Amino acid sequence: MINIQFPNQVTVKNPQDPHLHWRGYLENHFEDWDEQKQADTNAMMNLVLPMNKNFSRILAMPNTIPQHIQTKEDLDMYKQMVEKAMPLDKYFTETMFVVSLTDQITAKSINELKGHIKGVKYYPWGVTTNSGGSSADIDINKPQTREVLEAMQDNNIVLNLHPETTLQKDHNGAIEKGFVHDAEREFSDIVVEIAEQFPKLKIVIEHISTFDMVEIIESWKYPNVYGSVTPQHLMLTAHDKEGGPTFDAQVHCKPTLKTPKDLEAIQRLVLSGNPNIYFWSDSAPHPTEAKESSCCSAWAFSSPVAIETITDWFFRPETIRYWLEKELLSETWYLNELQDKLQAFIWDNANNVYWTPKFDKQIVLERKPFEVPKHYGDTPRVVPFNHWEELQYSVLSAKANIHWKSIDLLQL
Ligand SMILES: [Zn+2]
Repeated sequence: MINIQFPNQVTVKNPQDPHLHWRGYLENHFEDWDEQKQADTNAMMNLVLPMNKNFSRILAMPNTIPQHIQTKEDLDMYKQMVEKAMPLDKYFTETMFVVSLTDQITAKSINELKGHIKGVKYYPWGVTTNSGGSSADIDINKPQTREVLEAMQDNNIVLNLHPETTLQKDHNGAIEKGFVHDAEREFSDIVVEIAEQFPKLKIVIEHISTFDMVEIIESWKYPNVYGSVTPQHLMLTAHDKEGGPTFDAQVHCKPTLKTPKDLEAIQRLVLSGNPNIYFWSDSAPHPTEAKESSCCSAWAFSSPVAIETITDWFFRPETIRYWLEKELLSETWYLNELQDKLQAFIWDNANNVYWTPKFDKQIVLERKPFEVPKHYGDTPRVVPFNHWEELQYSVLSAKANIHWKSIDLLQL
């Protein structure tokens, strides 16, 4: 019988969220102008951006509307919108940006964008929210793509992969590849091909949902390949979404939630302390009318409760019991080991990819129930991940220690 102990306090230094979405509306694409959509997305950005204030650093994804971020002009416009909603000198949260890998991106554009972006994001066509503007399966034998990847490798720019194959059917309409539950497994061949041919390019397999992707990281054959894990892929399977008599729209995400075997592999990888795996929320705020509808938008909104959610998961009795029984944690040191693994997962490991940030924050959580809000805002209204849960850790204090002053983030 294992006597489980829980720490009364947990300290997290410099949590970072290197992948989230705000769905900004780029005003420079006048040909696709939609005034109502612009007002709606701006209202959502203004609501959700300040909720990231506890993070030291965040990385914004580029699948904005009406078009993705692809140029320096797009980037400047998006930065201005972000800075307006979340002023840097108020929150001290460093924001990083990426552009989308579309047919418009060339080696020349990479050279123009270097110093302004941390990565280039590949979206397979038509598999997730706002991915329609991107190309089909990434083809590294295409000369333009090779030149882009070479320029990225030379300039230390990260390749962020949404790892799913695109849908392909034969002449009878039967699916040949890209079936929703198989698309990520099929993409593992593409990851390996890129990793082998561009060994100095940092490649991130985003939001890992399968055993197959875990195997690539665990094999250590490709040290230039990193992986990230979202709260929903760390905690849930397809059964949680659709196994009961009703469908839970709030956890519908892409890549879709998978099997218990996949889940266990992801959990094993995270708790192994592998330095090439790290947290990111992949949080995306969809208004309730879009999420809870007959054409439910994919993705969960987890960023505002991510630190509490991840801490709670690391210190859940079932997590601790499972790892002690498998002798993957030593009984005498497990509290320290879990604290170190949490810190590595939520901060240190991502530095292997994105380097050290500018600002220093310290979040102290205490073992006190935290009831996740049922929703944020009214118009727009957005429901957070874990809204059904009472978590066991609450933020006690959150401070940004900038070299000339200290800010109490809870007071903001
Ligand atoms: Zn994403």
